[in-house]
Parts: sequence; C-alpha cells; structure tokens
Amino acid sequence: LEPFVSPHAQANGQHQPNPFSLEGKIALVTGGGTGIGLEIARCMATAGATVIITGRRESVLQEAATELGESVHYLTNDVCELDTLEDLVAQIEATHGPLDILVNNAGINMKKPALEVTDEEFSRIIHTNLNAVFALTRTCASRMMERKSGVILMISSMAAYYGIDRVVAYAASKSAVEGMVKVLASEFSKNNVRVNAIAPGFIETDMSRTAMNSDPDRRDRAMRRTPMGKFGQPSDIGHAAVFLASEAARYITGASLPVDGGNSIGF
Ligand code: NDP
Repeated sequence: LEPFVSPHAQANGQHQPNPFSLEGKIALVTGGGTGIGLEIARCMATAGATVIITGRRESVLQEAATELGESVHYLTNDVCELDTLEDLVAQIEATHGPLDILVNNAGINMKKPALEVTDEEFSRIIHTNLNAVFALTRTCASRMMERKSGVILMISSMAAYYGIDRVVAYAASKSAVEGMVKVLASEFSKNNVRVNAIAPGFIETDMSRTAMNSDPDRRDRAMRRTPMGKFGQPSDIGHAAVFLASEAARYITGASLPVDGGNSIGF
C-alpha cells in the first residue's frame, strides 16, 4: 500500500500516516491456511502486519506461509481443543510480542435437512464455530483489555440472518456469534478493544464449492439472490478485515459488515 497523503496535506507539504496501515501489528488468523483465512492473512501482511496462521493440517499451513512470505508464520492448532488456546496465545506473544488483532475465521459447515442432523453433528459445528470462538476470544481479550488495545474480528455469515435450507447448526452458530459481538463490544469498549463481525455472502472457497457440488441448482439459486450477479472472492473479505482492524475503523465496534454482493438487500 502506498502511504496515504491527502491532496490538502500534499499541497502543504505534510505527510499523514496511512490510516489503513497495519504496520507493526501482530495478528492471529485461525484457519488461515486456506480460503478466506488465507486471503485475510495475505491482505493483513500486505498492510504491514506480522501474521500467525493456525489450523489442523501442518502441510497446508506450511505451504500457505511459504507462499505468503516472511511476515507470515504458522502454528498447528485445533481450536476445538479449548485447553490448548492459552498456550497458543502465550507462545505467539512470547515469540512475536503482544497480539493486536484476533481473527476468528476457522469454521466448518455441513449441508443436511434439519431432521437428519444428529446431536453429535450439531454439537461438532457449535463447538467449532461458537464455543471455540468464545474461548479463544476470552483468552486474547483478557490480555488486550489489560493493555487497553486490541481488535477482534469474527467471520460470521449471511446464514446468521436468512433462512438458508440445510444449514441449521451452522446458522445457529453464526447467529450466536453475531449476538456475542454486540455484548463483547459493549463490555470491552471502555478498554479500547473493538469487536466486529464480517458477514460474507457467497464466496468462492473449498467450503462453498463443496456445497455447490452437492446441489447443482444451488449455484443458480445463489446467483439469483445476489444483486451483483457474481460470487465474491476471498480477498474481498481480506480487504474488509484490514479496514476493520485498522485505525481507519477506530470508531466502529459492535458492527457486522456484510460483504455479499448485495445479498443483504433482501431475498
Ligand atoms: P475453508 O474450509 O476453506 O476454511 C476453513 C478453515 O478453517 C480451514 O483452513 C481449516 O483448516 C480451518 N479449521 C476448521 N476447523 C478447524 C479447527 N477445529 N481448528 C483449527 N482450524 C480449523 O472455508 P472458508 O474459507 O470458506 O471459510 C472461512 C470462514 O468463512 C468460516 O468461518 C466460514 O463459516 C465463513 N464463511 C464462508 C463463506 C463462503 O462462502 N465460503 C460464506 C460465509 C461465511 P484445517 O482443516 O486444516 O483445520
């Protein structure tokens, strides 16, 4: 990114800091080895941050970190193993310094009619997309609150808002995350810790390709519901994440930003 210099400042020979820069920031992106998380990591690193990506598959993370360059590092971690999260954050801070940004991106989905979803399947999705998000957020936020500085981003979904068939547990988990954002934003704001969500629409990743392949009509239906008439790219979420994590968004907390080609205008 080029440093931002307004025309007025230019005329006066002044240089202002770029409000979108993440220079010197330390960011943790869960599920950062693939899809949306990979592009969030790429965009944050491009904006100047040191980024730590996590996930369960070491080979995937290693390949991603190599591709993204020297400011991106990886740690293998399963967010569902809640008792590992304190050590994860302690290790990151001991190696790289205080964590400025947490992006809760890791998530799973499953397409099934509600009546066929077992208790085990429902719990697995809720545990990954909700319980783990809360546990990691609590761990990071307690440190950020002490330092009176930090940004937490949740990758939610438009499934939180609309009745999309066959994603009952996923929709429940993402709606709960949206509710959590408002409470946490309120509780943390006096300590200068901001909490926001990004609600992606149809974004082209492995997760959405699997869903589309399991139902050939789904792609057409999705396009009919998208005013812009095209799928989003993972980098569209990456750019929004950089904005919300940066000083440019310093007065935004408790918000959910749809990045969805207009889906949220209404079906
Ligand atoms: P992907 O399946 O490509 O990415 C999910 C990532 O999460 C993977 O890197 C995976 O890595 C990681 N992950 C899953 N479970 C765990 C776990 N237990 N511990 C640690 N990491 C885990 O999907 P997307 O990039 O599409 O999804 C990213 C986020 O965006 C999700 O929260 C999803 O709900 C959300 N989203 C996506 C949309 C889309 O259209 N694609 C739309 C709306 C929201 P590994 O398997 O190696 O652990």
